[in-house]
Amino acid sequence: MSRSVLVTGGNRGIGLATARAFATAGDRVAVTYRSEPPPDANLLALPCDVTSAEQVNAAFDTAEQAHGKVEVLVACAGTHADELSVRMSDHDFDRVLDTNLTGSFRVARRAGRSMLRARRGRMIFFSSVLSNGSAGQANYAASKAAVIAMARSIAAEMGSRGITANVISPGLVTTEMTKQLSDARREQLLSRIPLGRAATPDEIANLVLFLASDAAAVLNGIVLTADGGLSTVL
Ligand code: NDP
Repeated sequence: MSRSVLVTGGNRGIGLATARAFATAGDRVAVTYRSEPPPDANLLALPCDVTSAEQVNAAFDTAEQAHGKVEVLVACAGTHADELSVRMSDHDFDRVLDTNLTGSFRVARRAGRSMLRARRGRMIFFSSVLSNGSAGQANYAASKAAVIAMARSIAAEMGSRGITANVISPGLVTTEMTKQLSDARREQLLSRIPLGRAATPDEIANLVLFLASDAAAVLNGIVLTADGGLSTVL
């Protein structure tokens, strides 16, 4: 049955691959973007900076008018601003937290209200293998660790109403975000991944679809690590 799906950060990278996979499966898909809309005409493209509760609410209003209440939320929008802690500005620390953590919270809060009324829904959030800590990424790692705690709290709050909240924790995925890594850092990470390669956005998208599927109905509050084994050697 076709569902109303909303993917934040769905104009590129993992979010776009995920949106395309849901659309291919026959779902009605809205994606939010901040800079440029996605190239795909079959995705409902909504401008939305997740650091603004007003923009989040406006995007949901439009998605709901077009597709009905959101039944599957994928909170994929994320950013980073890497710097050693002693040099990191308050602005960069706050901006990364506001996007990755509070942005995920804003969309979950908005989606959760109608999911609670409907007594069903799926929320999928994005953490990272770097959530255990990573030099030069105190802001990013903190945000991605906190996303897990937030998602597990939502899982505990809403599970009794048929709503699940789960987290995907990727390692290295080939997107714009990781193209910004220095060659040395990328090689260092690749050399430590037991599978010996990065994941593709499509591979992560498949896992999102699984978590949103009936086959995953019993999964709630889990962290699905999708890193080719990287976290086993970190
Ligand atoms: P990309 O850099 O390719 O895309 C980031 C997306 O987030 C874009 O759609 C961007 O929109 C959106 N975004 C950033 N800031 C905001 C904001 N304030 N409001 C709304 N949208 C925003 O990232 P990936 O596809 O690689 O990553 C997707 C998720 O997966 C992120 O949460 C990331 O942290 C996580 N992840 C990625 C890994 C990887 O190796 N790639 C590894 C582990 C986790 P716009 O283009 O308009 O700026």
